[in-house]
Amino acid sequence: MSAPFSWIRPEPWGIHVVPADIWVDPSRAVPRALVTHGHADHARGGHGATIATPETLAIMQLRYNTSAGAAPAAYGESVSLGGGVTATFLPAGHVLGSAQILLEHAGERMIITGDYKRAPDPTCAPFAVTPCDIFITEATFGLPVFTHPPISDEISKLLKSLKDNPENCVLVGAYALGKAQRVIAELRAAGHHDTIWLHGAMEAMCRLYEEHGVALGDCRLVSDAPSKEAMRGSIVIAPPAALSDRWSRRLPDPITAMASGWMQVRGRARQRGVELPLVISDHADWNALTATILEVNPQETWITHGREEALLRWCQLNQRRARALALVGYEDEDD
Ligand SMILES: [Zn+2]
Ligand SMILES: [Zn+2]
Repeated sequence: MSAPFSWIRPEPWGIHVVPADIWVDPSRAVPRALVTHGHADHARGGHGATIATPETLAIMQLRYNTSAGAAPAAYGESVSLGGGVTATFLPAGHVLGSAQILLEHAGERMIITGDYKRAPDPTCAPFAVTPCDIFITEATFGLPVFTHPPISDEISKLLKSLKDNPENCVLVGAYALGKAQRVIAELRAAGHHDTIWLHGAMEAMCRLYEEHGVALGDCRLVSDAPSKEAMRGSIVIAPPAALSDRWSRRLPDPITAMASGWMQVRGRARQRGVELPLVISDHADWNALTATILEVNPQETWITHGREEALLRWCQLNQRRARALALVGYEDEDD
């Protein structure tokens, strides 16, 4: 008999499910991949076959324009991978279509979370707490200093700035996949129904979200604005890279905001010239990471993708078996 979990091998460029010869979120092209979600550090183009949720496959098709070998797996559906391994995709609450992947083989259960959060998000299904033996958790914000405020507080700040500065516009930097749509949906939920102006790079992903049932209200492209004046007193959403480039000159006296978990770090906000930092993250903060480990209550926790050391230490102090995985190629596209 082989050692427990010898069928799973963490390699620097991804997690190898040996009996099925398939990789989870590999950072290089492989013949067969399971993909947790559409962010570029998890979903790469060029795999032979890709198993993912229909939403993630749609996002990958949009970004890489390849649909060859796409095999959709809906939430809760178990897929046989060969070699006696089955995979079940479970909601991760991170972005549209994001999934934890439950792998089962010879009575052993492992969950790979991909990126996840526990805070509510109107644009995606909530994280499903699911029992398992080994839980592989991300740790992007894996330090006790990271605590994300309720998003309603940050949305209120944004709306207050807008109200207090009717002669300006508020330019919000937000990642094109997930963060932008979440901010728009939360603004709508807070009763803001004015036109929201979008950078061109946001258009296709916003449309994809709408096609998957996430209503975003009246959004228009900055390039379609009749005049600069038409955008005074409005919210404009653009990718973070556009905040300081020439593109923003077409906006009427923008106040620069940024929606990111890193905005809790003052230096980062200053570095980007952000006047209105909004601490809005699509990842679990420290309290959510530790609460999730307690709730899932696995025999062993493997930590990846960020600040592994502090969470590893926390596990040890709480008499929980844990190890840090050294995977490469994961950057935050998506904080
Ligand atoms: Zn992500
Ligand atoms: Zn990630």
